[in-house]
Amino acid sequence: MKIFLTNTLSGKKEEFVPIDKSSVKMYVCGPTVYDRPHIGNARSSVVFDLLFRLLRNLYPKVTYVRNITDVDDKIINSANKNNESIESLTTRITKYFHDDLGHLNCLIPNQEPKATENISEMIAMITRLINLGHAYLNEGHVYFNIDSCADYGKLSKRKIDDQDIGSRIEISELKKNPLDFVLWKPKKQHEQMYFSSPWGDGRPGWHIECSVMSKKYLGDNFDIHGGGVDLVFPHHENEIAQSICESKNNKFAKYWVHNGFLTVEGDKMSKSLRNFITVKELLDKGISGTALRCFYLTSHYRRPLDFNQKALEDSQKSIVKFQKSIQKYNEKLDVNSRKIPEEFLSNIADDLNTPLALSFIHKLSSKALKGDENYAIDLLNCCNFLGLNLKEKFGEIQLTPEIIKLAEERKKLKANKKWEEADKIRMQIEGHGYKIIDTKDGYEITKN
Ligand SMILES: [Zn+2]
Repeated sequence: MKIFLTNTLSGKKEEFVPIDKSSVKMYVCGPTVYDRPHIGNARSSVVFDLLFRLLRNLYPKVTYVRNITDVDDKIINSANKNNESIESLTTRITKYFHDDLGHLNCLIPNQEPKATENISEMIAMITRLINLGHAYLNEGHVYFNIDSCADYGKLSKRKIDDQDIGSRIEISELKKNPLDFVLWKPKKQHEQMYFSSPWGDGRPGWHIECSVMSKKYLGDNFDIHGGGVDLVFPHHENEIAQSICESKNNKFAKYWVHNGFLTVEGDKMSKSLRNFITVKELLDKGISGTALRCFYLTSHYRRPLDFNQKALEDSQKSIVKFQKSIQKYNEKLDVNSRKIPEEFLSNIADDLNTPLALSFIHKLSSKALKGDENYAIDLLNCCNFLGLNLKEKFGEIQLTPEIIKLAEERKKLKANKKWEEADKIRMQIEGHGYKIIDTKDGYEITKN
């Protein structure tokens, strides 16, 4: 089966042809660990987790690297605000990140390097960039000289406008070109986190971290580099500049894959709008990680995704329906007895078309509800592939085997037009605190 991915470099959907099909390599920008992950951060993790699952299904070896940025201005500010040491803050937030992704059923990457554990490699790369004439030193800062890189701008293809200066691009008189970016910055007074370097005490810039860590684990030339669309400029543009200028073969990642923004009820998520939602808050409200994961998959990964209560409830209902479709078969389902349906796989392989894959799953679910075990096996296989854990218990679907048995009995009685007896069972179900509603697929049980 062929995989197609939209490559931001070309702006087109391309066939994915790995550099070496016996060993596929993917790097994804991980979190800056200064605050609890929000639902926008988690979208990116779920998208690339799914891509990892797809690649693993089709290739014998896949190496997935996702870094942890544990040195950054935001971290220093957050630690100061909390009156907490940087190490305690980054350890705590990294644990939250892993906990949240555990609830979302994301697989663990093969490597998860931390920036602070790769400082000597960063110093080495910066030194080479200076020696090759791509970087310069000015008052303890080392800057990358973008005029030395002919390909600068090839990913974002953007004209830099005034808005960028000062927001995405730091203003400094120390730079030769306003777009030059920092590779090493000197320690400020009273800063507790710094490292020694040939240019004095300080710390690396953010962009150099990913160039170094991807090279260390995946080499100069690897298959996929991923992240959120907000990273295209300047982060990924700058990563490319550093990496191609430093490498001998002028190569870096072959496919650049970016997931879209997440909005909350139509607005961009921000602390000032008070619509900043963390994964933990949703879990604490009883939303299951599986329902949240399903919500992420309802939209194509490149499109913006709007978070709202209705959309989340719809995803929760979908999961309830899928669970109900397999519940009556209990432990009988042998997932190994059938292959994952080709149609489903080809949907996922086509630039991760999860909306289409989910509509396919809904059809399987309806057929499984009608009593065909093979469809139930297919449904379970597809959900397992998507990382939707149907065994997770939550809210209204904590049905006892007794209730399921009663509902099934009632369904048979209704099919045989034994209305009175069916009604008695309905009352029995209600006596247990549940409500049963007839649907076109059979029935739906909710809590009273
Ligand atoms: Zn990065």
